[in-house]
Amino acid sequence: MPNYLKVSVNTVENISIEKTTAPKEKPNANGIPFGTYFSDHMFLMNYDEGQGWHDPRIVPYGDLHLSPASMVLHYAQEIFEGMKAYRSANGEVLLFRPDENIKRMNSSAERLCIPQIPEDIFMQALKKLVELDKDWVPSEPDTSLYIRPFVFATDPHLGVHASHSYLFAIITSPVGSYYPEGLNPVRIMIESEDVRAVRGGTGYTKCGGNYAASIRAGSRAEAQGYSQVLWLDGVSRRNIEEVGAMNVMFKINGKIVTPALTGSVLPGITRKSAIELLKSWGYVVEERELPVDELVQAADNGTLEEAWGTGTAAVISPIGEINFDGKKHEIGGFKIGTLTQKLYDTLTSIQWGKTEDSFGWSVKVC
Ligand SMILES: *Cc1c(COP(=O)(O)O)cnc(C)c1O
Repeated sequence: MPNYLKVSVNTVENISIEKTTAPKEKPNANGIPFGTYFSDHMFLMNYDEGQGWHDPRIVPYGDLHLSPASMVLHYAQEIFEGMKAYRSANGEVLLFRPDENIKRMNSSAERLCIPQIPEDIFMQALKKLVELDKDWVPSEPDTSLYIRPFVFATDPHLGVHASHSYLFAIITSPVGSYYPEGLNPVRIMIESEDVRAVRGGTGYTKCGGNYAASIRAGSRAEAQGYSQVLWLDGVSRRNIEEVGAMNVMFKINGKIVTPALTGSVLPGITRKSAIELLKSWGYVVEERELPVDELVQAADNGTLEEAWGTGTAAVISPIGEINFDGKKHEIGGFKIGTLTQKLYDTLTSIQWGKTEDSFGWSVKVC
């Protein structure tokens, strides 16, 4: 019996595997643009009302066949996740807190009226897919295999309601080092016109619609030489929420301040891990409302010591300048702060299996 059939799955039948007969040539992960190359296989599973999730399968990576009336194309009933597989020095392939991604996906699903995905089949799908395509996990320093699980509504119907059928898919893509020239501070534009999310909306979920709403401000900031947008809350436009598709943290007067998870902020797994590390190092971490005025004042009177974004793609992204209402405020002399660097080093060491993982965050695939 093949090994993958030995794992017992209560909720759905076992995952079938159809291997490709035409493996692709693998690119050198360094220097390739994010999300451009995809591995040889993908995971698919269907949902139909009355039947539940069924037909979990790994098949050769390829195009999908969809009705032009598929509900996702019109009403955006769709959610996704983002995570990575890392190759350690001794050749093992590791995931970082995959249970957290699975839980968050189901929290997003609940908000978007998408049926819950059984946690056991999700975890098994991740492991089996990454194991089958393990040669796609690059081994150059700081490279990884990006993993993109997603679910979308497939009913061929234009009525506005929750779909009765869905497709759950996982695709993977090798990615190069996020910082080929080393960790570098970025410039951030505070956005006071567009908002990404509001309380009661879908800000705490990973859904495509949130991203659609964020593109205009992102392009405007980019055109002015800023790499990311810093979002304010959608109601008062007064409080800091997130930076681009990252959570954001500040070191003010020795304490760490980060916006609380009030419903419009995405509960990042890197954010959660950074908070746990910071607390273990004895730092006071305040999760609270953070007015932009307080931040600008702290930048100008020198109490804003460090600032950084957190997210799976960049891990930790130092912020060297914020622009608010056309005025520039430098942070930490546009240099990487010592705590920012320590967080980056510690998190990446755990992810790539270079340090002992005392938190139990790494999950070995093979
Ligand atoms: C994914 C995401 C993050 C970061 O979450 P991680 O789990 O740390 O990768 C932050 N903000 C937004 C809007 C996101 O979509």
